[in-house]
Amino acid sequence: MYLATLMHANTRMNLTAIREEADAWDKHIFDALTLVPLMAELEDDASVIDIGSGGGLPGIPLAIVMPKVWFTLVDATKKKIDYLDQAIDALGLKNVRAINARAEQLGVDRGMRTPDGRKGAHREHYDVALARGVGQIAMLAELTVPLLKIGGLVLMTKGQRAEEELEIAKPALHLLHTNHAGTIETATGRIVVLEKQRKTPRDYPRRDGEPKRSPLGVKREGKK
Ligand code: SAH
Repeated sequence: MYLATLMHANTRMNLTAIREEADAWDKHIFDALTLVPLMAELEDDASVIDIGSGGGLPGIPLAIVMPKVWFTLVDATKKKIDYLDQAIDALGLKNVRAINARAEQLGVDRGMRTPDGRKGAHREHYDVALARGVGQIAMLAELTVPLLKIGGLVLMTKGQRAEEELEIAKPALHLLHTNHAGTIETATGRIVVLEKQRKTPRDYPRRDGEPKRSPLGVKREGKK
């Protein structure tokens, strides 16, 4: 049903380049579900955030098969969030919310303490952060790591260039107190796993657009 809504909505707006249903089963649904074994140890009520979820990938297929885990889908484009709200409603998913925001904004959102002392908002809140097709590892690390609790994992769905991107991201991972915990080859690609070791320094994430424009620790021509 999710794939049907996605394919249908895709005739009106650009949610995915994949238009063949058979292809979409492999490249969207099966590809999203390759993350399941890595999330198998999450406790009930764990919180997962999918950054740059677009048409709901990988978040929605995972939310369907993990009804006891809370999913937050984030995208900077309002019309994608409008689609996601409709899909979540049509599918009757109670464990998913969609938020129209930039990851950089959520990353600095510490929220207010609730009367019982818990922290409300997004920074240092999530057990797992997901991202597929959003950008290179050095940039994604800055967008995702601030959102994680200490010990939380980033699971990035990547392709051929995973190793190269990791090499480039080494200084960024160091600045963000994050380790490369491993890379898993799957039937549809590679999953790069990062583990947050310590609290994220207050400097990160930088302002909107900066992580992409000038990824942490990546030297540009003529610049330090
Ligand atoms: N994850 C989906 C979509 C990938 S396209 C899939 O695999 O099909 C990348 C998406 O990331 C776009 O929808 C774009 O709006 C969103 N995006 C890019 N930078 C972002 C940011 N800083 N914060 C939130 N969303 C972002």
